[in-house]
Amino acid sequence: MLEELKRAKNFNAGPSALPLEVLQQAQQEIVDFKGTGMSIMEMSHRSKTYEDVHNEAQELLRELMGIPENYHILFLQGGASLQFSMIPMNFLQRGQAAGYVLTGSWSEKALKEAQLLGETFIAASTKEGNYRRIPSLDELQYDQNAAYLHITTNNTIFGTEWSEYPDTGNVPLIADMSSDILSRPIDVSKFALIYAGAQKNLGPSGVTLVIIRDDLVERGTQDIPTMLKYSTHAKNNSLYNTPPTFGIYMLGLVAKWVKQQGGVEAIYKRNLAKAQLIYDVIDASNGFYLGHAEKNSRSLMNITFRLKTEELEKKFLEESKQQGFVGLNGHRSVGGCRASTYNPVPVESCIALKEFMEEFQKKNG
Ligand SMILES: *Cc1c(COP(=O)(O)O)cnc(C)c1O
Repeated sequence: MLEELKRAKNFNAGPSALPLEVLQQAQQEIVDFKGTGMSIMEMSHRSKTYEDVHNEAQELLRELMGIPENYHILFLQGGASLQFSMIPMNFLQRGQAAGYVLTGSWSEKALKEAQLLGETFIAASTKEGNYRRIPSLDELQYDQNAAYLHITTNNTIFGTEWSEYPDTGNVPLIADMSSDILSRPIDVSKFALIYAGAQKNLGPSGVTLVIIRDDLVERGTQDIPTMLKYSTHAKNNSLYNTPPTFGIYMLGLVAKWVKQQGGVEAIYKRNLAKAQLIYDVIDASNGFYLGHAEKNSRSLMNITFRLKTEELEKKFLEESKQQGFVGLNGHRSVGGCRASTYNPVPVESCIALKEFMEEFQKKNG
């Protein structure tokens, strides 16, 4: 039966590939979840059955990422984009300024929301070189009075990724990890708040994961709408109102899958190998493929490259489609090509892409 399954070689940037095993388990359980005679989608979010799913997803994340006990794990809605507003709403008080490191379109969007709500400053920016690199840690400029420092750990559109993070002392470090969460080991204790839309490495769209240190929850402004306060969700274990139950269930299955793969360290090694396959083709192509990111800023999750002419790019994308590859076009704002190699993308898909790229160069080089 398995041989008959048609699965795309899926390099979508988000929503993106999910592990086949996860989809199959969800399929099995969709009509009757654990003998309840109901789908997880059909039951009360106040039921014991659902609550176990909710808490297990949190426990798995805590274990996999080594999240210390003094951090809350929240499941919110509104995507990473609502976090762009919630963060300044909660933590940007009058008399303070919030620092943003600009490394791509998403950090620009995060800054724009904060500018609507208070004082901000740019702690560093690599816009000038069209976001080909991540700034070095000594380029960052901020002082200890900053409300917080915001970074985007992986730049989904430009294909760059931070490989080390700043020690910000008393300034809370806040990170948008939407496109590289759970893809590599990180020291959570360096961060005051981490957030990620689920639809890249964690599950389906509709859930936003927020990992937030207790003292920050308490420090947040209280005179803002209830649903937009982190304290509301922290106090109620993300069950103040109806959470996106199906998405949280799927996120739990994905976390379990990561654990079965050997955990984050093992997934990281696999991600390194996957990305290497494709970067090696780019580097050995004598300029037939042109990588966008500087080598030491390259992302393991989004590999961005161009071909010499737009015509050749078009041909590349068309032929890739014919061969069963999906999602290799770059983001509409920058063009070119992009292969997103998130956790669930199998090594086999990356080998197939490497071979396709080599073959395409042979025929067109
Ligand atoms: C996809 C993405 C977003 C936007 O996420 P939504 O959940 O659609 O709001 C924000 N930041 C980064 C880094 C992303 O990759």
